[in-house]
Amino acid sequence: MALAVATSIAGAREAMGAARRGGLSSGLVPTMGALHEGHRKLIQVAREECDWLAVSIFVNPTQFGPEEDFDTYPRDLDSDLAMCRQSGVDLVFQPVRAEIYPATHRTFVEVETVTSHLCGRFRPGHFRGVATIVLKLLNILGPDRAYFGEKDAQQTVVVRQLVKDLNLPVVVRQVPTVRESDGLAISSRNRHLGPQERRAAAVLFRVLKEIRTLVLQGGRDAARVRRSGLRLLSRETRVQVEYLELVDPETMQPVSEVRGPVRAAAAIRVGGVRLIDNLLCEAADR
Ligand code: AMP
Repeated sequence: MALAVATSIAGAREAMGAARRGGLSSGLVPTMGALHEGHRKLIQVAREECDWLAVSIFVNPTQFGPEEDFDTYPRDLDSDLAMCRQSGVDLVFQPVRAEIYPATHRTFVEVETVTSHLCGRFRPGHFRGVATIVLKLLNILGPDRAYFGEKDAQQTVVVRQLVKDLNLPVVVRQVPTVRESDGLAISSRNRHLGPQERRAAAVLFRVLKEIRTLVLQGGRDAARVRRSGLRLLSRETRVQVEYLELVDPETMQPVSEVRGPVRAAAAIRVGGVRLIDNLLCEAADR
C-alpha cells in the first residue's frame, strides 16, 4: 500500500476507519519527528505485529517547559516521510497545532505518583503534556497497539498507567533502546552536540553499565551504587548531572535497597543539550 499522509483529524480517522472495516489489526507509533534509527526500530517491530500502521509526527508544545527547546527541536519532514515510506508505514498523521490545541482547549491529563521522580520532577508539566497528547492520539486513531521506546521508560510507565486507569482498549508495547556504537542512545537531540560534547556524552551509558555490573555482582545498597555512578560522571567535566537514580521499574519510585530488578535512570546536560537514558539492572541470583 502507498503511504498516505493526513494533516487533519478527519482525514486520519477516515484512513483508520477504512483499515478497521477491512478487518486489519492496527498500530500507532507516536513520534515528534526528526526520525532516526530508534524510531525505525519501533516502526519495524510495529510493522511485524500489525496489518496496518500509522506513525504520528507532532512536536507537542504542551510537553515542553517555557525554558525548554520547543523552538529549536529538530524538524525534518521530507526525510521523515522517506523513512516511513521505506519502512512500509501506511499512514503518517501530521496534525496541525491549531486542530490539536485550538484556543478553546481546556482538558489535560495528570498521571500521579509515577511522575513524581526522574523527568517528572525536573520537567514540571512534561508528563501532563505527554499524557494529554497520547490520549488524544489514541482517541483520534483508536489503534489496537501503541509503541514506545525503552529510552523513555518513564514515559511508557506513564502511558501504561493512563491506559489502565482510563480503561483504554489498546495494548502498550515497549521496544528496546537503539544505540550508537559507543552506546549513546540515539536521540533527535544528539545532532545538537559538538564533536567534543558528543564524545563526552558517551559517559552516560558507561555509567549505567557500571551500575548494572555493580547490581549484577550483588550491590544492594542503592545509595552506594548511585554514589559510584555519580563519581564516574563527575570525571567528565563537560557533563552536568540532573539526576541519577535507581528506581522500581513498575512504580518509578527510588529504591533504597536493591531487592529485585531496578532501573538505573539518568539525565545529564552536555553543552546546552539535555540527554536521558536508563538501563534495567538485575542481580545474577534473582
Ligand atoms: P520522540 O520522537 O523522541 O518523542 O520519540 C518517539 C518514540 O521513539 C518514543 O516512544 C521514544 O521512546 C522512542 N525512541 C526515541 N529514541 C529511541 C531509541 N534510541 N531507541 C528506541 N526508541 C526510541
